[in-house]
Amino acid sequence: MPDVAPLETTTTTEETVTNPVTDDGDHDRFAHYARKADITRATVEGTPVMAICGKVWVPSRDPSKYPICKTCADIKSKLDTRNNN
Ligand SMILES: [Zn+2]
Repeated sequence: MPDVAPLETTTTTEETVTNPVTDDGDHDRFAHYARKADITRATVEGTPVMAICGKVWVPSRDPSKYPICKTCADIKSKLDTRNNN
């Protein structure tokens, strides 16, 4: 039975969300998950991207150096579960 509250309000869950991108904020640095199209655009145009956890920032660094945002990881695991259904 569905006991999971909706976590997203804007992004579609059907799009692949696999690219971790980094949080380049001052206080915390985590790799967040965002839509590939958004990441691509952000990389090319330098525009901010919104992670699936809701954080908005301009990704610029190598995400492999940072831990995955816990909120993003949690959301993504739910999406993966849904996709494998
Ligand atoms: Zn996040």
